[in-house]
Amino acid sequence: MNEMIFVVTAPSGAGKTTLIKRLTAEYPRLSFSVSTTTRKPREGEIHGLHYHFTTDEVFDEMIAQGEFMEWAHIHQNRYGTSRKAAMEVLARGDELLLDVDMQGGEALRREFGTRANFIFIVTPSLDVLRERLMSRGTENPESLAIRLGNAKKELTALPSYDFVVVNDDLDRAYEELKSVYTACHYRVSLRPLHPSVLK
Ligand code: ADP
Ligand code: 5GP
Repeated sequence: MNEMIFVVTAPSGAGKTTLIKRLTAEYPRLSFSVSTTTRKPREGEIHGLHYHFTTDEVFDEMIAQGEFMEWAHIHQNRYGTSRKAAMEVLARGDELLLDVDMQGGEALRREFGTRANFIFIVTPSLDVLRERLMSRGTENPESLAIRLGNAKKELTALPSYDFVVVNDDLDRAYEELKSVYTACHYRVSLRPLHPSVLK
């Protein structure tokens, strides 16, 4: 069976978590690889489910041991994809979903090339992004400013992705994401055909 790998990137606040949660609920074979981060948990976030929350010292050790497929400094914290966690998902035959920033996206393009599907999620404007971040109520003024500043940088990576989903109305955006997800299963490179097709 062919491995299915999805790399999803979005400026913080664009709705990536909301949309991914819906997609993984509808398609249980799609497994989110839980990243490791030095960021402090937000209210409601669960260790091992949303992230493996860790210290700078442990993160340093994980880098030294070569445990990360990729890692990056983002919004004054560090985030990394554990190679073991990602490979375990594929080894059990599930589809792998990686939620990373643009630096992670670049590293994973080097790692997987065209074996992975690269999806970018945007809001219709930066004003909408600001409103969403404010309405989420998880950021203080300083981290809000950092995230909005980084959003402009993130958007420069858009042309190197395969698909873009515009998260205006949530239900509509979800339908768009689902269409992309479904279409990815029909890529020629991922779909060896029975020889009889050519006879
Ligand atoms: P991200 O994971 O990309 O940082 P979230 O999924 O946390 O973003 O979404 C940011 C905020 O915007 C959350 O409060 C979420 O409920 C809200 N949100 C997401 N999508 C929409 C949408 N289409 N319309 C209105 N609010 C949305
Ligand atoms: P947040 O702090 O809002 O949960 O995430 C901030 C950013 O970190 C998001 O853009 C998210 O995609 C990114 N991120 C989460 N996990 C990883 C990871 O393992 N590697 C990389 N490069 N980025 C990650």
